[in-house]
Amino acid sequence: MTLQGHLTTTNHNRDVVGMRYIYPVISRRAGGVSIGINLNVNNACNWRCIYCNVPNLTRGSPPPIELDVLEQELREFLNDVLHGDFMQRHVHEGDRQLKDIAFSGNGEPTSAKEFPQAIVLVEKILRDFGLLGSLKVRLITNGSLMDKPQILDSMRHLAKCNGEVWFKVDAGSKEGIARINDVTLNPQSHIQRLENCAKACPTFIQTCMFALDGAPPSEEDIAAYLALISQVKNVIQGVHLYGLARLSLQAEASRLSRLPPEWLETMGQRIRDLGITVYVSP
Ligand code: SF4
Repeated sequence: MTLQGHLTTTNHNRDVVGMRYIYPVISRRAGGVSIGINLNVNNACNWRCIYCNVPNLTRGSPPPIELDVLEQELREFLNDVLHGDFMQRHVHEGDRQLKDIAFSGNGEPTSAKEFPQAIVLVEKILRDFGLLGSLKVRLITNGSLMDKPQILDSMRHLAKCNGEVWFKVDAGSKEGIARINDVTLNPQSHIQRLENCAKACPTFIQTCMFALDGAPPSEEDIAAYLALISQVKNVIQGVHLYGLARLSLQAEASRLSRLPPEWLETMGQRIRDLGITVYVSP
């Protein structure tokens, strides 16, 4: 589940450490290093967002996760970051701090059968490194599986590990969701999943907005989005509103363009007017 402007497994990132599941994201904007965990090594997702920047994206779920490889890679990389020379070799002096660990891959992380075990593993490793409770563990998800009891159990577990969920809501109507995320989804069911998730673990909504064929989201689309998210305003931590930070690698790429920062700021204010905390990243 990729997020515009956040973690993605670009070749550059992969090349830095050459691992299968772990990749670093060095961000000047965030002022530090994030450790990304990509469980979807086959670039398969159960959604197909038209802005998605995963190359050769296919529908599906990941192959079995080799938990021993994940463990070895995470330990090795944490060692390099905390006790080795990773920071000196790759990170600008002012940005040499570890910001978080994020499940954010080339597909939906919770669709991995071993996702619950992966959380257990991260908890164990963070405890061994003395980071449990101090380092944030984020899950970047499209939220589509947040009605499964075992996934919600994992969210409760994640909450105990200083966890946080970023849950995707890009549109408020069935048509809008089909147009942007290329899935058939009842918005009411999606918001119910969001509520389930937010009750289990601190949860932010993440929303990507852009112009399609030169036109920004219509007033009708915006009204549907605001009406939908206002239903959960008392259980979410806030909204991260993103513009099109990276190039889409989907067939619709040429139809997408960035919205002016002022447009996104105005949109952010409309969400704030509902009484919701908003972070805008144009
Ligand atoms: S949820 Fe959307 S943006 Fe995230 S990996 Fe799947 S298709 Fe890409």
